[in-house]
This record gives sequence, C-alpha cells and structure tokens, in this order.
Amino acid sequence: MSADCIFCKIINRELDAEIVYEDDKAVAFKDINPAAPIHILIVPRKHIPTVLDMEKSDEDLMGHLHTVANEIARSFKIDKKGYRIVINCGADAGQIVFHLHLHLLGGRPLLQTIAKGRGV
Ligand code: 5GP
Ligand code: ZN
Repeated sequence: MSADCIFCKIINRELDAEIVYEDDKAVAFKDINPAAPIHILIVPRKHIPTVLDMEKSDEDLMGHLHTVANEIARSFKIDKKGYRIVINCGADAGQIVFHLHLHLLGGRPLLQTIAKGRGV
C-alpha cells in the first residue's frame, strides 16, 4: 500500500472503480478512459511501481496477472477474436500511474502499432 497511489485506493475501496475481477493477489477494473471497447486494468494487490521494480520473488505474481487477463478475456468473449496485453514502463512509454498494471485491450481490430496514443 502506497499512501497516495490511486490504484492502491481502488484496491482498498477508497476510490470507486468498476471492478470486474478480484482474488487474493490481483484486482481488475475498467479503465476510466478506455482506448478500446474492452479496456481492463489488471493490478497486483502488492504495490510495485513499475515492471522494472519487480523482484525475482514477483515472477509467479507476474504470471498470475497474465492468467487473470486471459480469464477476463474469456469472460468478455474476446478470447477467440484476439486481444492485446500492454505494460507501460516509465516516461517514454507514457506510464502515468506508478502501480504496475496490465492493460487488456480488445473488442475491435487493434492497429499493428505498439505506440501508445496511435491506436494502442
Ligand atoms: P499507464 O499509462 O500508466 O499505463 O495507464 C494508466 C491508465 O489508468 C490509463 O489508461 C488511465 O485511463 C487509467 N486511469 C487513470 N486513473 C484512473 C482511475 O482513477 N480509475 C480508473 N479506472 N482508471 C484510471
Ligand atoms: Zn499502489
């Protein structure tokens, strides 16, 4: 828990969000400014600022977040058509919330660019 982290506040129910999944290690909620028809953020309950801050002991957790993303993709029925999982790390990637999160994007054809802001 980091005192002024908005995702920690969402996890602790101090801030509202449309939560679509949670378990003992992860929480997932709809992005407030969706870049695609399905845009879900999957976050660990543990406050890790960026993917660069993950430790060896977080490897299982990182795998779990991807399993959760796949489960959500199935539940939102975008598994067959396809989807994208994105992690932004640091300034050049445009990271704005410094609590590690996976973006799960789908529900429309996504452009063949990895550049944020150009079709995601
Ligand atoms: P980043 O650029 O850090 O990878 O992405 C952060 C994401 O969090 C953005 O897509 C942004 O729309 C989303 N976001 C920022 N603040 C909030 C919030 O208070 N609630 C929700 N649900 N999403 C947020
Ligand atoms: Zn946090």
